[in-house]
Amino acid sequence: MNSPIYITNHIQFAIVGDTFHTPIKGEFEFIRDYLILVNLDGDIDATFTPEHPSYQALLTALAEQGKLQTLRQGQYLMPGLVDLHCHAPQWPQAGKGLDLPLYDWLQNYTFPLENRYQDVEFAQAIYQDVTKTLLANGTTSAVYFASIHRESTELLAQTCLDLGQRAFVGKINMDNVEQCPDFYRENDIAQAFAETEAFVSNVFALQGNDSGLVSPVITPRFVPSCTPEMLNKLGSLVQKYDLHMQTHCSESDWARDYALQHYGKSDVQIYADAGLLNNKSVLAHSIFLTEHDVELIKQFNAGIAHCPLSNMFFANGAMQTRELLDSGVQIGLGSDIAGAPSPSIFRAAFDAVAHSRVREEGVDVTVASGERGTANARISFIEAFWMATAGGAQVLDAKTGVLSAKHHFDALVLEASPLIGNLRIWPEFDTPRDILEKMVCLAQKENIQQVWVQGKQVI
Ligand SMILES: [Zn+2]
Repeated sequence: MNSPIYITNHIQFAIVGDTFHTPIKGEFEFIRDYLILVNLDGDIDATFTPEHPSYQALLTALAEQGKLQTLRQGQYLMPGLVDLHCHAPQWPQAGKGLDLPLYDWLQNYTFPLENRYQDVEFAQAIYQDVTKTLLANGTTSAVYFASIHRESTELLAQTCLDLGQRAFVGKINMDNVEQCPDFYRENDIAQAFAETEAFVSNVFALQGNDSGLVSPVITPRFVPSCTPEMLNKLGSLVQKYDLHMQTHCSESDWARDYALQHYGKSDVQIYADAGLLNNKSVLAHSIFLTEHDVELIKQFNAGIAHCPLSNMFFANGAMQTRELLDSGVQIGLGSDIAGAPSPSIFRAAFDAVAHSRVREEGVDVTVASGERGTANARISFIEAFWMATAGGAQVLDAKTGVLSAKHHFDALVLEASPLIGNLRIWPEFDTPRDILEKMVCLAQKENIQQVWVQGKQVI
């Protein structure tokens, strides 16, 4: 191998410390004193464990060059979190109106608020704040629905770029007269299509976006809000530029029934037939999937954004998380701000576990215990952490979510200390598995000490 001195010449910095990640679904790795070398592009160049023959020499060389950060006892390195579904303009709405059914919630709260983003000045402070808040919560990759407005959606993309977040940003399309309010609808389909195509090229061309930190995402809101012509036209854009796509999929009884009544097929089939699915598509929720739907998603290598807390408010049913994980379909987590109020993907991971446990146990105490729930429906905390990191990255087809060579260095340092938040760790009797589970249960923004995206420290 190369000498340590040679290696350090193209290394931007290195970090050494106790590290968690989950390269394989359902398993975790805890690596003590893991040394990660980050190159000038912000990618992980190489990793070393203390057993490696060059480990000590590398530590010495890196320290001499002032390129080594050493984590303290109680600090842990892990991959940055991936939020697959967040409505950035709904951030001011977080925590409001959650007692309403989805349709009323959209009409009464969401659409009037989103329409305010035609005012770029109104958008500015909110987009800054939501991006900063997600970064501070450890979200290094975020998939955003914006609004129907090109200009302010480009501002969101620029904001993510300026603040250093890996982001996938979509200008919403919605043109169905029957389902969208007059004040918040695209009335001219040709113009809407032109705006969306311009949005795509403008995001690719943003100054400072040469490495593709921010990507445009084709974003039909969901089946009911779009005409078939709109869905087909957007599908042609996905195909033409090989773009990411995000939308809502079979989220509730109403949404599922709407598709069946108007198209005679499921949301997944509608999206597939419109050319909207590829290996970078994010289907939010996906509650009422048929077996055929799951096979279709797998066939396209598309993925699912599981948003457990929002599902408890709006989905009318429980996510089949266990079955979906076992099916091998790509799946990660979403905050679904503001269908749920928390910007934390640690919280989403915890909720995913809790959601699966309620489903396993059942809810009706008048039913005998053996018949009350769905046997073996639980998921583990390790699987939830995998969805929050590696799983989400797979859905996006992004080289992140794992701290191994040739991946982007998107990472966070989480600290457990009696002086910070609620997370407590007793190293003398907490095993590495205990520690990781505690993190999923108890980690808060206060515990996140440092965040990097593409090798650049952003918190
Ligand atoms: Zn949503």
